Amino acid sequence: MQGQKSSLIVVSNRLPISIFNKDDHWEIKSSTGGLASALTGVREQIDFTWIGWPGASFLKDQEESIRKELKKKNLVPIFINQEQEEHFYHTFCNSILWPLFHYFTDHITHTCSSWKFYEQVNKLFANEILELAEKNATIWVHDFHLMLLPGLLREKRPDLKIGFFLHIPFPSSEIYRMFPKREALLKGVLGADYIGFHTSDYARHFRLACLRVLGCDSNSEGVTYHGKKVGIGVNPIGMNIKSFDEVLSNPSYSGYIQEIQSRYKDHQVILGVERLDYTKGISLKLQAFEHFLEKNPKLVGKVVLLQIIVPSRHDSIEYQRYRSDIEKAISRLNGKYSKPGFIPVQYIYRNLPLEELIALYCLADVCVIASIRDGMNLVAQEFVYCASKMPVAGALLLSEFAGVSHHLPHAALINPLDIEGLSEDLKKALEMPEMERKNKIDKMAHSVVALDSPLWAKQFLEKLELVAKKNNFRHHNFSLSVGNKEKLLCKAQESSKRIIILDYDGTLREITSLPTKATPTDEILQLLRNLSSLKNTEVHIVSGRDAKTLQAWLGDLPISLSAEHGFKHKSTDADWQKLREFDMSWAPYVNEVLEKMTEEVPGSFLETKECSLCWHYRLADLDYGEWRAKELYTSLIHDLANLPVEIITGKKVIEIRAQGVSKGQYIQHILDKNTQDHFIMCMGDDRTDLEMYSKLPKDAISIHIGECMGKTTFQLESPAKARELLKEIYSALSVEAEASLD
Ligand code: UDP
Repeated sequence: MQGQKSSLIVVSNRLPISIFNKDDHWEIKSSTGGLASALTGVREQIDFTWIGWPGASFLKDQEESIRKELKKKNLVPIFINQEQEEHFYHTFCNSILWPLFHYFTDHITHTCSSWKFYEQVNKLFANEILELAEKNATIWVHDFHLMLLPGLLREKRPDLKIGFFLHIPFPSSEIYRMFPKREALLKGVLGADYIGFHTSDYARHFRLACLRVLGCDSNSEGVTYHGKKVGIGVNPIGMNIKSFDEVLSNPSYSGYIQEIQSRYKDHQVILGVERLDYTKGISLKLQAFEHFLEKNPKLVGKVVLLQIIVPSRHDSIEYQRYRSDIEKAISRLNGKYSKPGFIPVQYIYRNLPLEELIALYCLADVCVIASIRDGMNLVAQEFVYCASKMPVAGALLLSEFAGVSHHLPHAALINPLDIEGLSEDLKKALEMPEMERKNKIDKMAHSVVALDSPLWAKQFLEKLELVAKKNNFRHHNFSLSVGNKEKLLCKAQESSKRIIILDYDGTLREITSLPTKATPTDEILQLLRNLSSLKNTEVHIVSGRDAKTLQAWLGDLPISLSAEHGFKHKSTDADWQKLREFDMSWAPYVNEVLEKMTEEVPGSFLETKECSLCWHYRLADLDYGEWRAKELYTSLIHDLANLPVEIITGKKVIEIRAQGVSKGQYIQHILDKNTQDHFIMCMGDDRTDLEMYSKLPKDAISIHIGECMGKTTFQLESPAKARELLKEIYSALSVEAEASLD
């Protein structure tokens, strides 16, 4: 066992450190990057155990001493071997997921054969966390390297509060669905209670991927998965302001800035600060700068591009090639425009100490972020914050494809792929009056302060707590625990009569893409036959389906059937009867409206029943279908206001039915006045089933499949779980019957 239990665990692929062996002891250095800088700030205010990979492979006999050393800093290492490092980290994460999520699909040169290593490493993380997490602990999982982790943890520990934050963009579902492992990755993340993104675009893309790939239901707060509400929200990450203030408030620091400024006193400075990555658009920036010099020959010798590139993924041949391309472009440009005493592009390829970086932010006349895709971009925020502390502030040119552009609307937004446009924007920014620059920077600094990283963490954790609490409440109160199930089985055994009332679609049988495909399986037919063979036991199927379908599918079984939400019913061996006659004068108008909608929404279709009309949109584009369904619902509510109809929204269906028809009426029709000694159990999965639960006697049991709704006694995850329970009831009662024969 590794160490003390923890109530808050943060998990990221990399620990924020690098380890070196020096003179027989381990030296630990802090490492950088967006995630590391943000969480390091959080750590100063919130205490947590940080689990991650220390970033290199070690000999087995070194691992224990490293573990001990890191424990002093409340860091827990996950050791992965060289094969895992190669296939999990370099191949699957950096060469498949990274380009896919940044829309660079042409950079994906590998197949998914490294997937098993992704699974393996996610499991390694899960095992460590399961050892360390206290009961009800909070686990905050970070980023695309660990998307299976929430699901792996949830499987073993329903008590945990699990949050997931994605630091990179989530692509449009059109891109995401090209990925061969698309289902597994989404299912993994959906093990979390709450999932956070930098922007509303990423959150929307994720929600739509869940709808389109997994067929989940969703609302504005999140999606429903396995009967659990998973919250989805926008939690933009910010810079670590405190560490910048520490440098900026040092009395000797302004002297240092002045000294750097004096070195550039005859030049205007355009600043670029990026990690080496093809997503950052450094080559585009160089092209635009070259175009700028070409168009403005008088400014040659007066404007300098100061480009900092922080080394990254240096083991990758692709990144080595990218670096070489950038350096060639810089040499060419410098060869063309340099003069004695002047070099147009000054290039630094290393990680700068914070003091130097801040001085450059303070010095720059213009900072250009030309990312082609960027999850957030902290450099933009850091520049704005530092510039706002200067009497003469610089201007920010910000790519509209960086997440941070959503939060800094006062920046001059650019499309980095428009080289001519960017070159003109550079000129405008350099010529921008001081007052205008200052005004813009001050407004942006206001937004940046509100994004401060400790605040980001606090808000994320509060949101997670809220959603997880609701999920835990539902779990505790409505899940059919072992104890509750035993009580249920006992009650079924002890009662003189048993009435089992079951909805069909979504309860007994999984929903299918086409309603006609949901024929009962042999398993279902056998189960119903078994249950109805039990002594003193009635089985009722109460469905929204028409009588013809129910008759064809289940008519041979010795059970009672109720069709069209109670409109028609038949008991064993009897004929179908109507509950009563209904006014259907509204039907031709509704039919016309629904036919028109069916024409307009490809994939949708109309179902006509005796007392209702249904418009199904399960096979339509889910987003478009949802949108038109809302519109249809609103217009029908208005148009049918004074007519004897009810409009019901079901699972990807809108049903317009005669007023007074309800599953609840059927329940009233079948139940005796005196049910004191009866075992009554009713199972359903959508709103129309709530009508049944509300008509049940007080001590009856209602079981809802999927997300909890209305007054339900218990909740089960899926039709498969419902069938499992019915089988257990049958086993318990048939054993009892055999025993009584003996
Ligand atoms: N950074 C650094 N050393 C440098 C230049 C930059 O530590 O020489 C930091 C910078 O302050 C910022 C981070 O690296 O906090 C870059 O974060 P960003 O979100 O802009 O990009 P990422 O690297 O996460 O893609």
